[in-house]
Amino acid sequence: MGRTFEFPGFVDVHVHFRDPGLAAAETTASGAEAAGRGGFAAVVTMPNTNPAGDSVEWVRAQIDAAGLPVKIIPSACITKGRLGREVADLEALAEAGAAFFTDDGTYVSDDKVMEEAMTRAAQLGMAVCDHALVPCGGVIRDCALARRLSLPVIPVSAETDAIARDISLCRVTGCRLHIQHISTAAGVEMVRRAQREGLPVTAEATPHHLLLSCDDLAADDANFKMAPPLGNSEDRAELRRAVKDGTLMFATDHAPHPPATKASGFLTSANGIVGLETAIGITYAVMVEEEGMDIDSWAKAWWELPRWIVAGSERIIGNTRICIDEENPQKVDVSRFASLSRNCPYDGMRFSCRPLEVQP
Ligand SMILES: [Zn+2]
Repeated sequence: MGRTFEFPGFVDVHVHFRDPGLAAAETTASGAEAAGRGGFAAVVTMPNTNPAGDSVEWVRAQIDAAGLPVKIIPSACITKGRLGREVADLEALAEAGAAFFTDDGTYVSDDKVMEEAMTRAAQLGMAVCDHALVPCGGVIRDCALARRLSLPVIPVSAETDAIARDISLCRVTGCRLHIQHISTAAGVEMVRRAQREGLPVTAEATPHHLLLSCDDLAADDANFKMAPPLGNSEDRAELRRAVKDGTLMFATDHAPHPPATKASGFLTSANGIVGLETAIGITYAVMVEEEGMDIDSWAKAWWELPRWIVAGSERIIGNTRICIDEENPQKVDVSRFASLSRNCPYDGMRFSCRPLEVQP
């Protein structure tokens, strides 16, 4: 049986569909099907496709994709080719219907380029979203597994240095700033302070950073490798507190990869996991069942907070319905995903909250 609830359409502001460029991992059609099954009314696609999403034609092609079960609202590149050197034609990309600007997958390391982008985005009333992780060559946070396998580590400062730079540019430019997939307690504290200061700063937590911790890693399994990496149990606890008090929204960072690029362990495998079809079940289990968050606030972190960073969020229509049935928790069966990719560490887990069809 179970109890059903209905909310305004859930939005995932961070998905990677590999279209164009890597159709074997995900197409717009398969990704949209996964999003629909996952209970989302709309998704924001990332522009790290091949070619990169730095053109009006790319944005229009994403928006015009026909016959899909969810609304696609593409983000567009901050810099031309996602190369970090020259700011893209933000004005034309905004006009074409981009949700916001991001070079996700890569940190925009040139401060002057980022300042120019945020100045121009502020004039457009658009948000800039940053993959706030200074490149350092590491593949995992310091933990027992990292030491056992002698893996190069990613320090907390790789994230906090990036967030500090971004917040200082937010203060100078007045541009809306969104920190993607935040992973450290220290980073969350910086976002809290910026929000208290009245700066237009938001951030997102992924289901995997909320559920998992590097302290629990036991095997050299690349299904636990992502960028930023899993934090330790204190980071995870702080992320949960910050979702509960409304500091953070949810986003999946759905990152499909073909098997070959995830088969070689932490050192050389690709970053990221697929998450669209498990996100609602995981975030409900973690935040409502374990942390005691009320269901309306949990839902707002999927529908209300994300709308703040999406330009033209009135394009998002439909209502998300969920069913909660503690007696019959639903088992994750990765082999039955609509996503074309299987890089997911949740196979066989059971969650009592599942999405029903989105109502138009
Ligand atoms: Zn990213």
